[in-house]
Amino acid sequence: MEHRGIYDYLTRKELQGIQEFSEGKQTPFLIVSLEKIAQNYDDLKKNLPYAKIYYAVKANPDVKILKLLAEKGSCFDTATIYELDQLLEIGVTPDRISFGNTIKKEEDIAYAYEKGIRIFASDSIVDLLKISRAAPGSKVFFRLLSSGGDADWPLSKKFGVYPDTAYKLAKKAKKLELIPYGISFHVGSQQREIGEWDNAIAKCKYLFDALKKDGIELKMINMGGGFPANYVQPTQSLEVYADEITRFLDEDFPEGLPEIIIEPGRSIVADSGVMVSEVVMVTKKAQLDNYRWVFLDVGKFNGLIETMDESIKFPIFTEKHMNSKKVSDVIIAGPTCDSADIMYEHFKYTLSDKLKEKDRVFILTTGAYTYSYCSVCFNGFPPLKVYIEDKF
Ligand SMILES: *Cc1c(COP(=O)(O)O)cnc(C)c1O
Repeated sequence: MEHRGIYDYLTRKELQGIQEFSEGKQTPFLIVSLEKIAQNYDDLKKNLPYAKIYYAVKANPDVKILKLLAEKGSCFDTATIYELDQLLEIGVTPDRISFGNTIKKEEDIAYAYEKGIRIFASDSIVDLLKISRAAPGSKVFFRLLSSGGDADWPLSKKFGVYPDTAYKLAKKAKKLELIPYGISFHVGSQQREIGEWDNAIAKCKYLFDALKKDGIELKMINMGGGFPANYVQPTQSLEVYADEITRFLDEDFPEGLPEIIIEPGRSIVADSGVMVSEVVMVTKKAQLDNYRWVFLDVGKFNGLIETMDESIKFPIFTEKHMNSKKVSDVIIAGPTCDSADIMYEHFKYTLSDKLKEKDRVFILTTGAYTYSYCSVCFNGFPPLKVYIEDKF
């Protein structure tokens, strides 16, 4: 597949900055630009001014990133007590933190409660009972199931319930003397179909109305993440997403919006990262093989797990041969002794015919869901090195 040029992702100055920074450094590593993260946060704020941002810590939990976002006024969505501790350590107050994982141990709920957390996600009676015991009187929001739709990385099935169950949970929460506070959903990460928000918001509206009849006044909609980053296949711009989503909300809540929360991860950090890798070797399995195999010094186990099922297609460019006319299809694989460590086989990337051992390769849009997913020492490879810089 023909991909867009590197300047569709980076300015010349940024690319130059990355090249200068990379010089003499041993690969592989990831460079992250705080400037980009600040910019992405501001863009979201500008486009969805009524929404409160809860950064999804899991997307990139680096402490410098958390500090930057905390200074900018962000709130945070955490999945574990470990993420929670990280935030408390840098001085984020518990009123800015939610416990968004629907799968949690009772002792972890108790720990979070003791630290001051008063808002929890839930999608089951058993979890709700745990919250009522370990975090009495807390606010709870109920997660709706999503089909994942046209998401590159769907978050379906495992999380959420159908609206009829969310309705029952809200009523049960009230009985348990918790505060049934709102409805949440996640349309799937890197969601390409903006209509998915329309479906989900309509379900929220239905639940708001149904529960009101039972004397339960929900206050909040948590629209999760799913906002796009810039990978190989283009998406609509953030402005278009925001305009459409705002229209959906206004249509369903003409009398005024409830409190709106979003939990962006990918759209804040993905394009702040560039992975610098080196070609370990280029081979063919047979002389007349149609494809070259390009083995990089990064792979599924050192940061590129989102290439699983070739879901996320990272833009990949070679440093030396960016404008090469002679290009051909390649299979791209990682360096470990595991045959699952192939990033792209069915979806064909084209790279220069001149590409050879030791050439450097830039893997773009790798600021989200990369290094925190690294294995600790599979095959002895250390986790990916990360440099958090002020800018590229
Ligand atoms: C992963 C996750 C997010 C972040 O989603 P992105 O698509 O990366 O923005 C937000 N909320 C919840 C509950 C999540 O699990």
